[in-house]
Amino acid sequence: MPAAAEFQHTLAKTASLHGSSLHTGAKVSLKIQPAPPDSGIKFKRKDLQDEPTIDATIANVKTVERATSIGEGSIRVHTVEHVLSALAALGVDNAVIEMDANEPPIGDGSALPFVDAIRKAGVAPQEAPRLLFHVREPISVETKSGSLLVVLPDNEFRISCTQAGPEGRFTQFMTTAITPAIYEREIAPARTFVYYEDVEQLMEKNLIKGGSLENAIVVRGDSVLSKEPLRFPDEFVRHKILDIIGDLALLGRALRGHVIAIKPGHGVNTDFARALAKVQAATTAVLPKSALPLGEGGLDINAVMAVLPHRYPFLMVDRILSFEGETKCIGIKSVTINEPFFQGHFPGHPVMPGVLQVEAMAQVASVLMMRISKSASRVGYFMSADGVKFRKPVFPGDTLFIHAELTKSRGNRLAKAMCKCVVNDAVVSEGELMFTFIDK
Ligand SMILES: [Zn+2]
Repeated sequence: MPAAAEFQHTLAKTASLHGSSLHTGAKVSLKIQPAPPDSGIKFKRKDLQDEPTIDATIANVKTVERATSIGEGSIRVHTVEHVLSALAALGVDNAVIEMDANEPPIGDGSALPFVDAIRKAGVAPQEAPRLLFHVREPISVETKSGSLLVVLPDNEFRISCTQAGPEGRFTQFMTTAITPAIYEREIAPARTFVYYEDVEQLMEKNLIKGGSLENAIVVRGDSVLSKEPLRFPDEFVRHKILDIIGDLALLGRALRGHVIAIKPGHGVNTDFARALAKVQAATTAVLPKSALPLGEGGLDINAVMAVLPHRYPFLMVDRILSFEGETKCIGIKSVTINEPFFQGHFPGHPVMPGVLQVEAMAQVASVLMMRISKSASRVGYFMSADGVKFRKPVFPGDTLFIHAELTKSRGNRLAKAMCKCVVNDAVVSEGELMFTFIDK
């Protein structure tokens, strides 16, 4: 049901579970509460005065040793990755995770207890479009110790991952699409694992006071120590994927791309999420149209509608940002999921049709021609388009900057315009359009 997946979701009612935390061993009860659209995922420390909340965002990441901790001011929440993983993979965009401790319960070391609690409460759609991160170009992060994470464009969220143990032992590989059903069955049950060599060190550092064979698999040499046998022959790489989903949830957007991870860990995962957030910030750096400066001689929507005869849904220009002399101007069009053409083009993978980008170019060029034709008794007709190239897809949420430059206007009879549409400083489409003027 791709159409339903485009809406934000929260819990239908409160989800709750109890247990003890890994690092401190303290008892903790956790409740996941529904939250309004666009509020994202937040943690709430019920055990502290004034019950402070911390946004689960990459900007709030504090430490990444063995687990991912976030904080604001002096308030901390540790080991956030498993509950965030479950929420993200089951498609929960907005929720408040209330806890009476500084860490969620570790359960059996997997994400299964969170999945069960969320399923019991139910997931409900909200009346707001889901915030997505469509990957357009490869984004990668590499470390000196040989970790590499890269994301490539893909219509769905996929993860391909390797896990390499010491001396090549337990080297595993898995590639899978991440859907709620696949996650529940293949990823969520995979448990945390530790290497025996690391355990003593961790105990000395007081990092696993609550650790036991009930909530982690211990790997010693070629053998595996755990209370329960391995749930999958490749359980380790599955848990690595679980952690990647949790760490990438700190982006606050549903990823549409293929993540390839070699030797992932919380450090490189969160560095990677930070790199993605930076690209995302550049994408949304375009201000909402109401805040855009009109610029010298720009036209607001009313002025555009006074010049152009087109009306919704065929008006492809929200405003003219600016003119440069008589021959150049830049128009702007905010492309939202509510555009009628997304219903049929295509529900599972909405992209703006190229011909409508050409239409947008023609409308912006028309505005230029109206200015120079000087006579209201003439109408410009769009005759042809040459050298049209569609270079990149345009997605819901994009802001289209439509550049038009008149290159020829012969005796006010014929006019040519070089046009291009730009999203995030990259040309998404271009072409040379020709018009003729006809007396009304
Ligand atoms: Zn983990």
